[in-house]
Amino acid sequence: MTHTAHRIAAFIEAAAARIAEQASEVAELDQAIGDGDHLINLQRGLAALQTEAATLQTLDWPAALKRTGSLVMTRVGGASGSLYATLFLGMSRALQDQPVDRAHLAAAFAAGVEAVKQRGKADRGEKTLLDVLIPVADEWLQGVQARWPNELLRARLDEAATRGCMSTRDMIATKGRASFLGERARGYLDPGARTCELMLQGILAVWAEAVTREQS
Ligand code: ADP
Ligand code: MG
Repeated sequence: MTHTAHRIAAFIEAAAARIAEQASEVAELDQAIGDGDHLINLQRGLAALQTEAATLQTLDWPAALKRTGSLVMTRVGGASGSLYATLFLGMSRALQDQPVDRAHLAAAFAAGVEAVKQRGKADRGEKTLLDVLIPVADEWLQGVQARWPNELLRARLDEAATRGCMSTRDMIATKGRASFLGERARGYLDPGARTCELMLQGILAVWAEAVTREQS
């Protein structure tokens, strides 16, 4: 049973590419309702992960996620750095000694998201990246339980990410720096929710392409 994280390099690449494509939008959002460092923080972390990708690929999933979490913690920084580190470390813990199949991955992601909620003392509806992570985690669990085929699962997760991100536009923020702006944050997408959506969509596209190739 070899469950090395052989796809992780492609996931990192896709996440970085989606962020690069929308870099100016993300920067503008964070200049409007954050402190303008979110894009740079994330890109610094993604570059560090790209440098490590060849090594990460040789590890099993719990070890690769753990290493990813530590890199993200030290290289991204800011609120999002510690929250994504918490996500990856939580997933790593949940996958320890478990098979890396659809059900366990969905459960591990949900466990990671639960850890992010605790760490950020935040929940859905507070105009943060959790407005993307939580609905995606819920949809993933539902899809696995209902045995959705891979293509349907990918499409539904993609949509959940977009809907979650869009939902932040009309919210006021009750966590993070945007919470200092009160009503002035309304009308803007949360930058952290937008980058979360973009990275998830990049990863999902790579995953869908890989499973289609394996099945054909
Ligand atoms: P910082 O606010 O420290 O400058 P970043 O710019 O890296 O951090 O990230 C900002 C993003 O982090 C926000 O757009 C929001 O999505 C997310 N965020 C901030 N605080 C929280 C929190 N308590 N829980 C969940 N997400 C949060
Ligand atoms: Mg910031």
